[in-house]
Amino acid sequence: MSDRQPHQLPRFSSPDEERTHMKQRMAAAFRLFDRFGFNEGVAGHLTGRDPEHPELFWVNPFGMSFGLIRASDLILVDDQGKVVEGDWPVNAAAFAIHSQVHAARPDVQAAAHTHSPYGRAFSTLGKTLAPLTQDACAFYDDHAVFDDFTGVVLDTEEGKRIAHALSDGKAAILRNHGLLTVGASVDEAAWWFITMERSCQVQLLADAAGDPVTIDDECAALTRSQVGTSMAGWFSFQPLYDKIVADQPDLLD
Ligand SMILES: [Zn+2]
Repeated sequence: MSDRQPHQLPRFSSPDEERTHMKQRMAAAFRLFDRFGFNEGVAGHLTGRDPEHPELFWVNPFGMSFGLIRASDLILVDDQGKVVEGDWPVNAAAFAIHSQVHAARPDVQAAAHTHSPYGRAFSTLGKTLAPLTQDACAFYDDHAVFDDFTGVVLDTEEGKRIAHALSDGKAAILRNHGLLTVGASVDEAAWWFITMERSCQVQLLADAAGDPVTIDDECAALTRSQVGTSMAGWFSFQPLYDKIVADQPDLLD
């Protein structure tokens, strides 16, 4: 394994190269979401903003299993919800939510949302995650609750309200629905999703077992500056990417 090198942020010489890289990262994130059991029927979406056309985004084909998605299966959608590349339809909720998040947050390349079980259970409590562990501190004072559940999100007005609740944070808990995370890269958004789901699981376990000790505000903020940066999110995804590509190399196609 002499070709193994430490991970470094990628550099691109063309939008084509960046697009291919981003779509492969998205396909890997879907395979990981499948492996972690985040899929529930046809629910869930991950979007990536096109590097050349920022008003367009790539998203999973509506109705295709996360566990089968290859980079070439992703579809490209415009700001009116029209599929401009690919044969599969787009999930209307994916467009309604993600188009507004991408519009409100130019710094965001990717947004992830699924109906993962622990995030969904935690979302019914209508509160933010407490800084109970080092990992949960990544979200300390950096996520919000969207507490206005009105059924499946099908109109962009609700997407706008979700984007407003998200504000400049890295995540939102959609009450009675599930988690939404964003990032400056697909890697980052996917990592925040995976670790936020785990943090929901840990808080549910700890709260069920007793009366957990909360990390104090100053220490929680310090820890966020260590584990909650954009770079830390990107870096944390790399070993997961390497493993899923080694196990399922067809995702790169
Ligand atoms: Zn949903």
